[in-house]
Amino acid sequence: MGLEEKLPSGFLLTSVEQAAGWVRKSSLFPATFGLACCAIEMMTTGAGRYDLARFGMEVFRGSPRQADLMIVAGRVSQKMAPVVRQVYDQMANPKWVISMGVCASSGGMFNNYAIVQGVDHVIPVDIYLPGCPPRPEMLMDAILKLHDQIRHEKLGAQKAKAEDEAEQQALLA
Ligand code: SF4
Repeated sequence: MGLEEKLPSGFLLTSVEQAAGWVRKSSLFPATFGLACCAIEMMTTGAGRYDLARFGMEVFRGSPRQADLMIVAGRVSQKMAPVVRQVYDQMANPKWVISMGVCASSGGMFNNYAIVQGVDHVIPVDIYLPGCPPRPEMLMDAILKLHDQIRHEKLGAQKAKAEDEAEQQALLA
């Protein structure tokens, strides 16, 4: 009897998926990217007291091409929106986004023409983090929830996400 017949159905693919998920979640590199006051809390989270190094992600990358996590920390102005999009496009797949704080998630108190009413109008968001500003503990909780999401992601899910995203962009163009 061959190995495949002995193993439960989908065993090998599931194991590869689990290994890939574990590797991806254990080596997230955030892009160096802050937009407003929430960024101060994000920087604090990266410092010694909160010690993001425990989660394999203390190095905020200077180039989006070396990053796979964008933490949108602060309100997104209409002028900044194309830049946010460009930085996101420069990040290689697979990539994830945390929208940090009410301003990034929904415009927050800035319900006016100058501020994008939610960064998900510009890029896809994986985790929305409430608060004004969210404390470092809250950001770490969001990061751990994202880890969980990444660990259970199916292989190919990122490709499907990128294709959906490209389709939406083409419709908007
Ligand atoms: Fe600043 Fe609060 Fe908006 Fe964050 S949510 S950018 S702390 S006003």
